[in-house]
Amino acid sequence: MSKEKKRVEYCSFCGRSAEEVMILISGPEAQICDDCIEKAHQIVEEQTERTGTTKKSARYAQPLRLIPPREIKAFLDQYVIGQDEAKKVLAVAVYNHYKRVRQLEATKGKPADPEAVEIEKSNILLVGHTGTGKTLLAKTIARLLNVPFTIVDATVFTEAGYVGEDVESILSRLLQVCDYDVVAAERGIVYIDEIDKIARKQDNPSITRDVSGEGVQQALLKMLEGTDVLVPPQGGRKHPEQKMIKVNTENILFICGGAFDGIEKIIARRINTQVIGYSKSRIEYVDRDNLLRYLSAQDVKQYGLIPELVGRLPVIVHLDPLDADTLKKILTQPRNALLRQYKHLFALEGIELEITPDAIDYIAEKALEYKLGARGLRSLCEAILTDAMFDPEKELKDARHKLVVDRQYAAEKVKRIGLDNLKAA
Ligand code: ADP
Repeated sequence: MSKEKKRVEYCSFCGRSAEEVMILISGPEAQICDDCIEKAHQIVEEQTERTGTTKKSARYAQPLRLIPPREIKAFLDQYVIGQDEAKKVLAVAVYNHYKRVRQLEATKGKPADPEAVEIEKSNILLVGHTGTGKTLLAKTIARLLNVPFTIVDATVFTEAGYVGEDVESILSRLLQVCDYDVVAAERGIVYIDEIDKIARKQDNPSITRDVSGEGVQQALLKMLEGTDVLVPPQGGRKHPEQKMIKVNTENILFICGGAFDGIEKIIARRINTQVIGYSKSRIEYVDRDNLLRYLSAQDVKQYGLIPELVGRLPVIVHLDPLDADTLKKILTQPRNALLRQYKHLFALEGIELEITPDAIDYIAEKALEYKLGARGLRSLCEAILTDAMFDPEKELKDARHKLVVDRQYAAEKVKRIGLDNLKAA
């Protein structure tokens, strides 16, 4: 009997042969019978019940590691190009937030020290054009800290009583990420995207009901402040028979993001009055191409976020618009840069992909020219490389193992697809 055959016939755990058991499952190095599977399953269940952890929640069970701002920024640098100012402010805010969480956790259950300095919660507001890396920044920070993280879109929420989701469902999603481990969720990070879309409309004074605007801001306010919220486990709308889970939001870091289209006009107006106000102006040189640099809480309020909500977002960060140089770097430099991903995809087919510098220039130029932003880089790359991925033989022609994409090749493929289609993507 060959060695291989003998290996297949016995359970590696109880040693019984295939004839003695109902099912024998083989892995590359071992076998297991149905009895042993059941016993193993029982052990896992007992262990889970005893410790109250599951695979997902065990991931978040380690004590929170306090990471200094420099280290946070260095980590962000690996994934996010440019946005140095935003990274610095974010790194400090996140560091302070978790310092506060640690302090609160350390003093939990102990009598309150009247002398103690209480660190206030510092939720963050990110303002920058779409596709400049707001979501990417929030996501990358959560990955570094190893805390539960979820992204929600502010536009799906409505005031209680209207069709849409209640704001509490934000926390349902956070709970789902960590398998309903409330302790983990209570120190997680929530990214609320498109916060600008629930701004109070300037031409819609509050005599009329503002279903998706001010009411939602009011509902968010409490949550951002830090309070006990009863959360429907499955999200969506609350209904009376549902069992609720209590989540305290005091230590949850809320990062809100939005493009705030048109806010530059508000900033410009304010700066102009300031310049007139201080005849020898304080702002001597105004960077008109990037007015977001001068963004203040006042502008956000003027845009239509209620003052109380702005008050709960004490850290305001702007993101710079992406220029051609930054777009080129985004294509090539991050650890999981797009071009690296495509090179890897082709390598798996045994093909070396070379994208010449002038092709990279071309892609960045087009993304900029058609205002596609960083998100458009992907659509452009897809347009250029789909033919080669679909039928490599045809595209490679004589060179069997190497595809060279130069400016001309890229331009031909993009022309064939038409940039208007990309714009819609
Ligand atoms: P936003 O939230 O600002 O609309 P995202 O963070 O979703 O934009 O960015 C969209 C995509 O563009 C990301 O997945 C990322 O690949 C890329 N991207 C945008 N900005 C950057 C940046 N500064 N560095 C690296 N990649 C970026």
